[in-house]
This record gives sequence, structure tokens and C-alpha cells, in this order.
Amino acid sequence: MNLTLTGGEPFLREDFFEIASFARDKGFSLNILSNNTLITEENIEKLKELNCELRITLYGLTAKAHDSITQTKGSFDKAIKGIKLLEKYRIPFSIAVVVMKQNFFEIERLQRDLKKKKWRFRNDFVLYPTSGGSPAPLEYRVSEKQLEEATKNRLLDNRDGLSRNVDKEMALSDIGRLTGYISSRGKVYPSLFLKIEVGDLRKGSFRDIWNYSSKLNWLRDLKLKDIPCFNCPYNQDCNRDLGLIRDENGNISVASEWCRVMEARKEVNK
Ligand code: SF4
Repeated sequence: MNLTLTGGEPFLREDFFEIASFARDKGFSLNILSNNTLITEENIEKLKELNCELRITLYGLTAKAHDSITQTKGSFDKAIKGIKLLEKYRIPFSIAVVVMKQNFFEIERLQRDLKKKKWRFRNDFVLYPTSGGSPAPLEYRVSEKQLEEATKNRLLDNRDGLSRNVDKEMALSDIGRLTGYISSRGKVYPSLFLKIEVGDLRKGSFRDIWNYSSKLNWLRDLKLKDIPCFNCPYNQDCNRDLGLIRDENGNISVASEWCRVMEARKEVNK
């Protein structure tokens, strides 16, 4: 069983270590998604004890580029300082490079730099609405021209690809079957992007919600053949799970941004 703690920024919580230790005591393996600005000599020992893995978001190669996107002066320097501490204390981590219109120009150099440092990383080209549902981030998605360039320069990797076999009785997704999402207010959803409330931890246990939610059972019964992905040539490798959404008619669909990225990846793999 794996638990991922995310935010906002999870280390902002004063009781972060209490929560994380509780999860470890319960036997969860633990991942933390963080901007890494709050890792210090004071808390690194506690982090080491957790025996967890961190995923850190970087937006650029330089403080200027990174801070202009986070809009927080000093965030790049703090993140890098934090990464060096993770290295020093041998705490496993990887970097998520969020590729956007604004930082696209330096992604290649950033990649080279990360390789040189031997820091594990992956480029993330798919931007979603915020967890609150605002579409604001979508305008920062890379342009068609940038996606073409990314293809040419092999910046799109295929590590999201699952290469699964596809048959018509296949379940739509692992969302709601193997994975679920709990908000900071205790609401339970199938995933961060599929905002169908299936329960509330203030009113019932996770076990009961998971086992008896009629909405979850409905989702679990959906088959891949119920959405257009079934006939798509990329359906074996596309990580559309992350992009499941519910449209205005209540139908389950996929974020079309995955189609754009998969189309570009096809060129890479030629
Ligand atoms: S490329 Fe688009 S249609 Fe094809 S499997 Fe991925 S999300 Fe579905």
C-alpha cells in the first residue's frame, strides 16, 4: 500500500512528521511531492527516519526562470539546497520537470544538467486544471510548435507508457480500483482529477467508502470500450489514467492533452 502526501506544500503543515510517521507505522510506503524549499538541517534526520521517497518539482535551470514561475523569490535556491541535503543524507528523490510555454527554451539544458548531476528526473508535459478546478494553468501548456520541437529533440520520453494489453472487457482505469484520493478536508474522490465525491471521512470510514460507495462501484464497472480510447492506436502506452475527467454531461472522458502528447511521442518512437 502506497500513500502519497502532496499539497500545496505538505511540509507547511506543522504536524507533517506526525502524520507521515503515523502512515509509516501503519505500514504504508510513503511518497512525498514537494517543492523542497522547507528541507533543512533541522528536519532532515526526521525525514531520513521516515524511509520515504520525495518527488521535487523544478521549473527551470536558473533561479530567474524557476522563481518567475513559482513567483517566489529564493524558491530555486532553497529547492537546490534541499536536494543537496537529500543527497548528503541518501534520501531517495526524483525531479519532476514541469514543461511549460515559459520555460520551454531551457528544458534541453536543464535535462543535460540533471543528467550530469545524476539526478533522476522526468519531463511532465501535461498540465491539468488546479485541484480546485481552475483552468488557469492550461494557458501555460506548450504550444504546437514547442511540442513539435520537443519531439524533434527527443524531450518527450516514454516512461509514462504502461505498455499494457488492451481488450474490450478491460476496466476503464486503475482509478477507484487501485488508487483513490483524499482531500485535506477528508473528502474522498477516485482521483485528484476525477472530482466525483464518493465519501467523507468525517462521516464514515475509508474502508466503508471504498467497499460500498455506489459511485465507485459504477466507475469500476466502466470498461475501456465505453470511451474513445478503446479504438485509439496509442491505447497500450498512454497514461490517460491520470487524466480521467467528467465532462459537463456527466460522462467520463480523458484529458485531450494526453492525445496531443501521445501524437507527438509517436514521432519520437519512429
Ligand atoms: S491518446 Fe487520447 S484517445 Fe488515445 S488512449 Fe490516450 S487519451 Fe485515449
